[in-house]
Amino acid sequence: MSTPLERLKAREEAALFHTYGRYPLAVARASGSRLWDQEGGEYIDLLSGLAVTSLGHCHPEVAEAVAEQARTLVHVSNLFYQKEQVDLAERILETCHCGKVFFCNSGAEANEAAVKLARRYNRVVRETDAHQVITLEGSFHGRTLATAAATGQEKIKQGFDPLPEGFLHVPTGDLEAMEQAIGPQTAAVLVEVIQGEGGVNPLDGEYLRSVQELCRENGVLFMVDEIQTGLCRTGSFWAFQEYGLEPDVFTSAKAMANGLPMGACLATDEVARGFEPGSHATTFGGGPLLSRAALTVLDVMRRDRLDKRASDMGYRLKENLRHVSENNPGAIEEVRGRGMMLGIVLAENGQSVWRRLLDEGFVCNLTQDRVLRLLPALTIDPADLDAFAEALDTIL
Ligand SMILES: *Cc1c(COP(=O)(O)O)cnc(C)c1O
Repeated sequence: MSTPLERLKAREEAALFHTYGRYPLAVARASGSRLWDQEGGEYIDLLSGLAVTSLGHCHPEVAEAVAEQARTLVHVSNLFYQKEQVDLAERILETCHCGKVFFCNSGAEANEAAVKLARRYNRVVRETDAHQVITLEGSFHGRTLATAAATGQEKIKQGFDPLPEGFLHVPTGDLEAMEQAIGPQTAAVLVEVIQGEGGVNPLDGEYLRSVQELCRENGVLFMVDEIQTGLCRTGSFWAFQEYGLEPDVFTSAKAMANGLPMGACLATDEVARGFEPGSHATTFGGGPLLSRAALTVLDVMRRDRLDKRASDMGYRLKENLRHVSENNPGAIEEVRGRGMMLGIVLAENGQSVWRRLLDEGFVCNLTQDRVLRLLPALTIDPADLDAFAEALDTIL
């Protein structure tokens, strides 16, 4: 006798590319920060589909907006003016210093747009040959050929060469290495403020401000990848705002439409001049359905001050985890991150701890072998965070 999960697994293995190592869980239904499997088993979700469902699963206002828009207008293509896309553009620009936005369908696409914009701005507007993009070791910027080339982790690139040229990685936090790498060929520097896939590594604020300064002095674009950190997750609307940064270009995606595919590349008015009609495009990006969903997400985030809530919940969880650490000397090396983006660095490989948490009904992610990564919904009930800390305490 096989279980429903075993049967699904067998069907998947026969039919799908073997690209994913799955968790032993098939989610049938979800609401807020709760998941239910095919047999009705209940889980507390501390992962939000990798920082995507920031408002919680199946948020009623987003569901309503999507259902209504699905009956009105879903797609016409970017050949047409679309009011929903303009509404969204105006609303997202109110949250930052940028003057223009381009909508696409994923994080990798948003970074591709940023790289293309950096090159084209240099070629067409500034009339230079600068084309190189400098990124950091341990970074993650996506899995398309160009964004894999931009990513500072070898395992992402293995077997895919030749990758597009013009990307250079320097050690994270090393200002001198950055200074040496920047030259007449440099078009842009691209950084994450907190490296997510790299193991929840917050970068030093002083370092980031110095990198921005270096970019300004050398006429190099300063670009920030906010795909995971953005949209209130780390305690401010955009993480670069807490560090006093003003990137020329930044990218967003994951949480934009609370689970529907949506990405964006934002830039100052000056840099946005690099694109003109025909230079960059997408079929689906910024369509009425997705834009309406994203507009609702932004409105809820601003109305309910989810930046502040993420920050408050982050303090609460960190405080809980400090007690867990004190109760279990030597088990936790460090708790890193901000707001609702935290990494619990365990002293040893975390596979068994991660698995026991799952068995106890807590879904989180294990990255870099021993970092338990938490990306809960910004709307999570504090009691759920307390329950997680208690379960971790017992397991450790
Ligand atoms: C997830 C992520 C990406 C890639 O986004 P996709 O939507 O998977 O293409 C890029 N950069 C960062 C920082 C991310 O966290």
